[in-house]
Amino acid sequence: MSIRVTVWNEFRHERRNPRVAQIYPSGIHEAIAAPLRAAGYQVRTATLDEPEHGLSREVLAETDVLTWWGHMAHGEVQDEIVARVQERVVRDGMGLIVLHSGHFSKIFKRLMGTSCNLKWREAGEKERIWVLEPGHPIARGLPECIELEHVEMYGERFDIPAPDQLVFCSWFQGGASFHNGCCYQRGQGRVFYFRPGHETFPIYHQPLVQRVLVNAVAWAAPSPETTPVQFGNRPPLEALPAHRA
Ligand code: ZN
Repeated sequence: MSIRVTVWNEFRHERRNPRVAQIYPSGIHEAIAAPLRAAGYQVRTATLDEPEHGLSREVLAETDVLTWWGHMAHGEVQDEIVARVQERVVRDGMGLIVLHSGHFSKIFKRLMGTSCNLKWREAGEKERIWVLEPGHPIARGLPECIELEHVEMYGERFDIPAPDQLVFCSWFQGGASFHNGCCYQRGQGRVFYFRPGHETFPIYHQPLVQRVLVNAVAWAAPSPETTPVQFGNRPPLEALPAHRA
């Protein structure tokens, strides 16, 4: 069975800013979904203003990997839904891919346990994303460096816990470097943070960025052979000798 992906998007900038709508006429979620569909994944989309933000228990139960793009409305995401997503990751092993300004989302901050704050600058400068771990599954098929001509800068310090694996490092023309491509294990689930994706630049139309997303989904998906976790009281496997108190 192919990997089931839910692409979540806040979907506000595209409806309010004509410049963003021009770049992403069907929404950022559709731009992210297209290469994932082309890769053979089973993809659906969900957005903030749908009931339960499009993330009902049923939808999440049928999701192997969730991708998250949000920016201006992190505060509007209901805590109950955040807890539901967290539970799916930590308990059930659903993969979570957090994109760009999703660094400030409730779900990412909750899974990291830190402020997730950073420096930023919107100057349309060049970014070079250097591949630190060419042998990592997320770097499959990439050259040693991905160059993006015009981006928003994110700079250190990025207040996250040290990643289990760091796949990329970003360099910026105006002076800055940044942890990029951060891999984490949280309970049963895998979490990946990928930096590019500011809404006023056509980042998700870039083939190498799309390649990272396709690879990241494959990496984050839970193994179908994983045994479900069980908690609570457990009888002994064989008769135990009588125990004197
Ligand atoms: Zn941005």
